[in-house]
Amino acid sequence: MGNNDPQTPPPQKPKPPGGPLQGWWWVYILVAVLLISQWLMWGSGSMKETTWLDFENNMLANQDVESIVIVNQDKAEIFIKPERLGQGAYKDISKGKEGPHYFINIGSGEHFEDKVDEAIAKYNLDPIPIKYQKRSNWWGEILSWTIPLLIIAAVWIFILRRVGRGSGSGSGFNPFDFGKSGAQVFDDTNTSKVTFQDVAGLEEAKVEVMEIVDFLKNPETYTRLGAKIPKGVILVGPPGAGKTLMARAVAGEAKVPFFSISGSEFVEMFVGVGASRVRDLFRKAKEKAPSIIFIDEIDAIGRSRSKAFSLQANDERESTLNQLLTEMDGFGTNTGVIVMAATNRADMLDRALLRPGRFDRHIYLELPNLEERKAIFKVHIRPLKLADSIDLHTLGGQTPGFSGADIANICNEAALIAARRKKTAIEMEDFTEAIDRIIAGLEKKTKIISEKEKKIVAYHESGHATVSWHLEHTDTLMKVSIVPRGKSLGAAWYLPEEHQIYTRSQFLDRLCAALGGRAAEDIIFDEVSSGALDDLEKVTKQAYTMVAFYGLDPEMGNISYYDSTGEYEQSLQKPYSEATAQLIDREVRELIESSYTRTKQLLIEHRTELEELAQLLLNKEVVLQDELEKIFGPRPGKNGTEPHP
Ligand code: ADP
Repeated sequence: MGNNDPQTPPPQKPKPPGGPLQGWWWVYILVAVLLISQWLMWGSGSMKETTWLDFENNMLANQDVESIVIVNQDKAEIFIKPERLGQGAYKDISKGKEGPHYFINIGSGEHFEDKVDEAIAKYNLDPIPIKYQKRSNWWGEILSWTIPLLIIAAVWIFILRRVGRGSGSGSGFNPFDFGKSGAQVFDDTNTSKVTFQDVAGLEEAKVEVMEIVDFLKNPETYTRLGAKIPKGVILVGPPGAGKTLMARAVAGEAKVPFFSISGSEFVEMFVGVGASRVRDLFRKAKEKAPSIIFIDEIDAIGRSRSKAFSLQANDERESTLNQLLTEMDGFGTNTGVIVMAATNRADMLDRALLRPGRFDRHIYLELPNLEERKAIFKVHIRPLKLADSIDLHTLGGQTPGFSGADIANICNEAALIAARRKKTAIEMEDFTEAIDRIIAGLEKKTKIISEKEKKIVAYHESGHATVSWHLEHTDTLMKVSIVPRGKSLGAAWYLPEEHQIYTRSQFLDRLCAALGGRAAEDIIFDEVSSGALDDLEKVTKQAYTMVAFYGLDPEMGNISYYDSTGEYEQSLQKPYSEATAQLIDREVRELIESSYTRTKQLLIEHRTELEELAQLLLNKEVVLQDELEKIFGPRPGKNGTEPHP
């Protein structure tokens, strides 16, 4: 999506207050764990550890030991006779203190008992009672399994929280919000500020969309005559054509609740989330009917199931799509919920989604024409400070093939350029600079090119210029430049005419214009360079479409292997025989070869002009239309700017 959005983001809703434990519960648990472990430590802290030697030589030998308890076979607890406490070796232990008073960690109970018996025999003592006890350490055991559990829970919650944030489910964290749709809602409290006024051009689409708004507001007008209100409307168009903008304008105009969500927000790494989010979204929309659901980039979920299958299966996306289809079937025609969706890949969408009863209406948004571009410029220059020199007609003319988003970008870029130049108002040259920059990338004046390379570039660009000037069906040349921009080292800029269809001779002339650069290198240097890569790619693709798609090749006849349904792609097989494949290859090759010969002849004929322009380019780097006219003579003017690298 483009930038320069006239809509200000809606204010964030306050987070719902959580219970007292929410967010802090782990602190309570931590404190409890600390207390418990402290308590356990105290438990063993009241008796002292001692050694066998000390026990045998001092306690046993002196007949101080009253009894011994062997706990769990690994610990011997020693009870000292009460009368010995508080004196001699036991003066630290207060008189009357209950035992055990000492303990020894032992290997095994029997072995310890044997050793005690030996000592008794050795010192000739009275027998000492030895008891065995089995004790379980409840707290230790509980902790031993709760702590790992707590750690796992903490990690899990951490992951959920991150994913939850990513899915835009808004309102703070709650793991149970996971299956909720997280759609942005525009209603009475949070209105979209975009109106149809902000959408320039696109008149036909606006009429259709306005009708949708009317369906919702006055359904009786239509249902009275027995008409069914459409369930779904899909906006199809290239990126930046204004689909999202249009939907926002509907939200602003309709004054009904508007749920906006992006297709990708349904698809999550957790299975089943997508389907439950769809369900939740429709439930909420139905509650607030009449309402509109807008799903942007619906191709993220609505991709053709068979196509996805051919490359990779994605069950999650498929179940989300199925749920969407079910929901759309599920609500009646007059429930007052209309689903709007936008995509720039209508060809990728599942057919089931496009059939009547789901998305009954398809609205195509095209790239804007000259008048529409002027209107879009008008919308986007509103907030800018402009000099008087700004001419919308010229701006519109210089931007054929630009989308609304590109135009919004140009306006912003022009303002930035003017600001950098410390101007008080934006002038025409700032706009021209912004357009050039958006078409071909940033000027790279510092890019180091050797003299020899510069010469090759100059002749290459002069070649394009010379050929296109002398052919009838090529666009008007505006300027030629050898200032490196973006990845290209030079460019010829045209004002393309807006065509809906091309004839064979137009195609042929365009092939020649594209080959002009390489042919010029060939003639002048007797050697060609890698600089023609983009040209050759374009030429090859164009020749291929002429032969295989448009039926413009006499040998091939009126046959087109173009596949608008995407079925061939799926079967991974060509729809023609090996012989036809060879014929296509041969014809493409011949087409390009004959165009190349024609281009070279033309350049040889106009060699002096070619050389004159190349020299001028080497001196000045940029040559404009009036100077080109001086070299080549007049050419009938045409109009719009597209660079030819
Ligand atoms: P997409 O078709 O990819 O959803 P958007 O609707 O997001 O394109 O358009 C991006 C931006 O381009 C918009 O926010 C707006 O600034 C600008 N734009 C596109 N079309 C128009 C138009 N017809 N009128 C005015 N601005 C437009």
